[in-house]
Order: sequence, then structure tokens, then C-alpha cells
Amino acid sequence: MKLNEQYEPVIGLEVHAQMLTRTKAFCGCPTSFGSEPNTNVCPICLGMPGTLPVLNINLVEFIMRMGLAVGCAIAPRSVFARKNYFYPDLPKGYQISQYEEPICTNGSVQIDLDDGGRKWIGITRIHMEEDAGKSIHDLDVDTLVDVNRCGVPLIEIVSEPDIRSPREAYQYLWKIKQLVTYLGICDGNMEEGSLRCDANVSVRRKGEEKFGTKTEVKNLNSFRYVERALEYEINRHVQLIEDGGTVRQETLLWDANQNAAFPMRSKEEAHDYRYFPDPDLVPVLVDEGWKEKVRQGLPELPTPRRDRFMNELDLPRYDADVLTTEKGLADYFDESLKELCSLTGKSMKENAKAVSNWVMTDVLRVIRERKIDIGRFPISPRSLASMIALISDGTISGKIAKDVFEEMLVTDAAPQTIVESKGLLQVSDTDVIVRTIETVVRNNAHQVQKYLEGNEKIFSFLVGETMKAMKGKANPRLVNEILRQKLEALRR
Ligand SMILES: [Zn+2]
Repeated sequence: MKLNEQYEPVIGLEVHAQMLTRTKAFCGCPTSFGSEPNTNVCPICLGMPGTLPVLNINLVEFIMRMGLAVGCAIAPRSVFARKNYFYPDLPKGYQISQYEEPICTNGSVQIDLDDGGRKWIGITRIHMEEDAGKSIHDLDVDTLVDVNRCGVPLIEIVSEPDIRSPREAYQYLWKIKQLVTYLGICDGNMEEGSLRCDANVSVRRKGEEKFGTKTEVKNLNSFRYVERALEYEINRHVQLIEDGGTVRQETLLWDANQNAAFPMRSKEEAHDYRYFPDPDLVPVLVDEGWKEKVRQGLPELPTPRRDRFMNELDLPRYDADVLTTEKGLADYFDESLKELCSLTGKSMKENAKAVSNWVMTDVLRVIRERKIDIGRFPISPRSLASMIALISDGTISGKIAKDVFEEMLVTDAAPQTIVESKGLLQVSDTDVIVRTIETVVRNNAHQVQKYLEGNEKIFSFLVGETMKAMKGKANPRLVNEILRQKLEALRR
């Protein structure tokens, strides 16, 4: 047994998600990313004496969405606290946060395991807080401070120590990202810092109940780093214990360049935050009516949506996963399917796979090539559905549809119009097909002979030759039928 297999990691994640409110948590300054440094500020978010913070109601609604989506209890009364510490990027000297009385508690998130199974990860709490500014370490001019981010609203999602491997941590984080983007409360962009993750990790011998000593790893600003840093830290713990040492409780910073975690200087680490209730802010009161209103505004969530795609539409797991990755894509699929059903009169189940194939291959290909999101994809669900309807009623072949699709990317014209103006109508005229097949059979006497001797593969070659001769416009069903008859007649 490998060394690591004798140990079990115990991991908990703290995820900070920046909320997509237009303004900051307690003032009217904009939250936009990438502004000129130190311009999105006012006396309130700089903590000038005599100013008073006013809570942004959208922050409360956003955190309630998240809390309800993961089954948390929403506290009828929660309280803001001051987290006091001194740091150059925090001019106020404290962050407004929630401490003893957070708004959301006791939820859970279902993650997907690599073996196809599912697992629930507990959510201890989710609370509101404001962000601090940023120190910019510039080699030429030493350290600069940008306080634009001071007061930008965050929620902190704290998991139970239910995660048992770096891979599960990755899956959990992925699920959190998927949820916050579905809910429209965070853009989920780890590179820009909209989603940040700290990990608590310890190891224990398999079968042991008691947790080992944990360390905290910070600065995990990509999905890959989370997995790597956890692997690094788990190995380090196991090595220490095996060498007869003990793990020291400490905070480490992940260094992606060196692929290693280093302890923070104890000065930075030894915070005594002296939390106390913020005297400038009244408690947040949430009544049942408000909670219900937020609950009713929740979209269909990713996991139930995926299950619906599988169970009600008979889509394969793979399709359902891809289509529900992002809410915009799932919406596009759902709308296209609805349109197609109203055009063809067929059921959702009958139409689902055709729509899924187009969305998963051609639509996604264009989105990736153009690096756009589905919101900027040029073909509307209605147009895509009209085009698929033309295939299913035999007006065009699937092959021609690919050309129509390319054309639809550059013009606003309806697929019917494109088909007519470009002369792409599928040929279902039996006489024309019969004549073409006769020519193909005549010109490929050698291959036909092989077919008659039992080489079945030749059949699709002859279909291909016929389609080629008719520039892809022949009705493939008719070509198959007529060719088969023709060849059988030769056999006699
Ligand atoms: Zn401000």
C-alpha cells in the first residue's frame, strides 16, 4: 500500500464570492473591475469619521438566493460585526463582516464524483462581508495601494470538513461556481478574483475518528491550484507524521510558481480580530414573506435541471452534463427545443436529441472559436429550431444543414430563405435519384461486383458517390432505399 493510502485527508473550503451588485455593500460607489486605481471611492468606503454605512439590499437578496439554493436556514435576524486589523489596503482599520450571527446556516451541496456517484458536502454557514483593497507589489516603486475594492460585497461560503480528496475539493468548487453563476449573483471568474478559495486541510490514519492538526492554505486563485496545493499539503502532512514529527497549526500561502506552500510570516498571521457588533448598522431582519419571494425567484438549479434532461428528455448523462454547465446554454437548449416542438408537433423526447446534437457540436464550436458566451451567439433558438425542422421534414439533408448553419451565422435571413435562395432544397425527386444511381453503378462496376460478392462496406461507398454526384442534396433515405433495390435487382 502506498504511504498516502494509509491516510485520509480531511478538507474544508472557505469560498469568497464577489457579488454582482452594481454598487458596493454600504455605499453608492460602483463595483466595476479594472477602473483607474483609487477612483471608485467615497468617504463611506474609506471609513472617514462621521460617515455612516447603509446596507445594499441587493446584497441581502443575493445571499438569500445562495442560502436557499443550498438548503440553508435563513436567520430571521442576523448581525454585522467589525473584524479589526491593520493593513495598508484597509484604510478603515476594520472590515464589516458577520461573525456570531450569520444570515445563512446548515446547508449542503451535491457534488459529482468521478465514478459517476454523488456526494453531499455540508455548508456550515454563509455570511456577508465587504472586501478590502489591494496591495500592488511593483518592483520599480515598491508597494502601491488601490482601495477601489474596499467595500465591494462578498459572501463567504464555509463548508463542513466533508471533503476527502483534492479531486472532491475541485468538484465542490466547480459546483459552487456553477451555482453562483446560475443564480446570477457572481460572475465566477477566479482569474479576476471574483471567486477566491482558502482550504483547511488535515490528515488522519484511515479508520481514525479524531481529526489531525489542520493547516490553512490561502491564495488558491485557480481550480488547478486548489487541487495542486491540497496534494502538496497532504503529502507534507503525511511525510511529517511518518518522520515522527507533528503538524503545526499555521497558515500557508500557495506559490504557484514554485509549486509549493510557504508559511505566512507570523506577524501577518497572528491576528486578534477583536470582533464586536458594528454599532453603525442595525440587525438584518428577514421575514417569511421576503424569504418566500426570493425562493420563488430562484431559477431551476443545475443538478435538478440535469436530472430533468436525463429523466424527462431521455438525454444521455454526457449531453445533460454539457448542456447544463452554464445556465445560458441550458436556457438556449430549452428554448430551441420548445420552438422545435411547436414547429414539428413532435414531443420533447422525440426532438431532444436532435437539438442537443446541434447545441453540443456546432453551437459550442462557434462559441469556443469566437470566445463569446451564449448570450452573443448570433443564431436565435427559433432560427436553430426552424433549421432542424427543415431536416426533419426532409426539406434539406443533414449535410446541407451544416452549410445553412454557417450561412445563418453571417446573415439574419431565416433558414427557409437561405435554402431557397441558395438552391439547397433536398432532392426527393425519385427519377433524378434513380438516374444518378444508375450512372454511379455503371461507373463503379468493379466495386459493385465486390458488393455482390458480399462486401457490405461497399454499400456506404456507393451512397457516398451518389450524394457526391448530387452535391449533397439528395434525400439520404431515398438514396439508401433505391440503391438497395437497384443492387438487389443486379443480384438476380
Ligand atoms: Zn464608497
